[in-house]
Amino acid sequence: MFSYDDYREIIQAVKDSGRAKKYPEALGSDEFVIMRHDVEYSVERSYQMSLVETEMDFCSTWFFQFTNNSYNPFSRTTRDRIYRMRDNGHTIGLHFALDGETDMEVIREQIPKQLEIMSYMLGFEVNQFSIHRPPAAALAANFKYPGVLNAYQDDFFTFAEGVTDDTVLDVKYMSDANHIWRYGYPTRENILNHRKVQILTHPFGWCKEGYDNHDNYVSLVREKYKEMIVSIDDECKDFKEYMDEFMNAQITF
Ligand SMILES: [Zn+2]
Repeated sequence: MFSYDDYREIIQAVKDSGRAKKYPEALGSDEFVIMRHDVEYSVERSYQMSLVETEMDFCSTWFFQFTNNSYNPFSRTTRDRIYRMRDNGHTIGLHFALDGETDMEVIREQIPKQLEIMSYMLGFEVNQFSIHRPPAAALAANFKYPGVLNAYQDDFFTFAEGVTDDTVLDVKYMSDANHIWRYGYPTRENILNHRKVQILTHPFGWCKEGYDNHDNYVSLVREKYKEMIVSIDDECKDFKEYMDEFMNAQITF
């Protein structure tokens, strides 16, 4: 259920709806289907998934963290990926992590500061954001700023507690968190049944083959293992003599 072929079906359904929009066009519109991606753990998987969209002449919005412990959004490799994604028409935003902060007034001040830093580091204006694992208080806060769009502001997301697949909301939200589409799968029918839809995927959960949750983590950790080897090799010429040993090591999980 998490292969690129499955993802192509979702994209096709979104395209066929005739309502595919990004956040700026969806703002104030009566009908939209927004495709959003929160980037955790793997920039490479996000990039590969973005190419699936590009092949289908589709583009969407990708939110990157910069307090994440698994990748650096400002490394040269990541920036190259981000620039290519932008060249392909994708929008790049901030995936804001609260990092344990619970005071929403502090958060209200932090978000524009992070957007500013990200804009400076990437060399283009970043003015859209989503919140990583938002607590109810962060959703209820409905953060809005001039010239900035929040994926969880009330135009794009209807905040209510105890939501199930059957709850009727102004904006229908479908998310693949933890490989579970808790609020419904974005089938053609499900998309057309709602005038306003926001779909969230986490690209680390998707790959060409499509794995279940466990095997996906296995493949992801293996990819990151290789990425680490390449990163060390890039920096340290003495590492060469160990390369084969690490590359050929049997990982037994
Ligand atoms: Zn997140």
